[in-house]
Amino acid sequence: MEKLSNPQKTIEVIQKYEFAFQKKFGQNFLIDGHVLDKIIAAADITKEDFVLEIGPGIGTMTQYLSEAAGKVLAVEIDKMLIPILQETLSGYENVEILNDDILKVDIAGLVAEKNGGRPIKVVANLPYYITTPIIMGLLEGHVPVKSITVMVQKEVAQRMQAQPGSKDYGALSLAVQYYCEPYIAANVPPNCFIPRPKVGSAVIRLTVHSEPPVKTGQEKLMFQLIRASFNQRRKTLANALSNAPELDFSKEDITEAINALGMPAGVRGETLTLMQFAQLADLLGERKRAYDTDCNCGR
Ligand code: SAM
Repeated sequence: MEKLSNPQKTIEVIQKYEFAFQKKFGQNFLIDGHVLDKIIAAADITKEDFVLEIGPGIGTMTQYLSEAAGKVLAVEIDKMLIPILQETLSGYENVEILNDDILKVDIAGLVAEKNGGRPIKVVANLPYYITTPIIMGLLEGHVPVKSITVMVQKEVAQRMQAQPGSKDYGALSLAVQYYCEPYIAANVPPNCFIPRPKVGSAVIRLTVHSEPPVKTGQEKLMFQLIRASFNQRRKTLANALSNAPELDFSKEDITEAINALGMPAGVRGETLTLMQFAQLADLLGERKRAYDTDCNCGR
């Protein structure tokens, strides 16, 4: 089958099948071969790789992945696209298509079944309405993944890569950087897609760490602290954390922990590094344990 990565061929396929774009599925199909080359290069795909593609659309990127990878599993939610994919990928022997919602698929189970549990690479032009749940689902679900190379909304890519003190820095930056090393490989303008999205896009590669870059015995608490700090990012860290309904620390305890870490009393969460959030979680977690033990005395 001829390559789909140009406007004429894409329109031809869409018209042949009278395919109607579904806004609710975030359907913007790539029509630029140079962008696809960049994605494959950024993902560093070789014949050793098992690739999971999320949302193949009409199969434009799948064709490139198939040529570069050992095996490709493409999960597409829209059943109207399945007969199209069967035709456009008919000569591509190493591709398997699954008609399902990626948010409902047991990906770790699929990796165990299809790749013997060995780590995979994820490559996708993501549906933007579910970028964060897809990426965080892969990372927090501890799916064996080497890297995730995805097209996302440009602002989201910038937030994932942002460093402390910048306006884009937030809970997403810290969550992504706890699990991976982000690298923005390309910015992609709207005219590389049919239909054109209203926002700019970027290709980001997330190389998954074998070990998190910071150690904490309080991972859950650390993420609660991060979320609470950025939910009220204009407040001081001490106020944001003591106001957070999901946390149960007095303002005194929080202030003491902030002091113990050598930070000024009026510090804001948006200036803390991942390491500092981890240290804060360890200190507060320790305090909570001591408090719980005291309360249980004599029971
Ligand atoms: N990969 C194609 C390309 O680059 O031209 C299409 C990308 S398009 C931005 C996103 C694709 O994800 C669409 O085909 C859409 O139907 C599919 N999709 C949306 N939500 C999905 C979900 N929950 N699970 C699987 N696929 C989904």
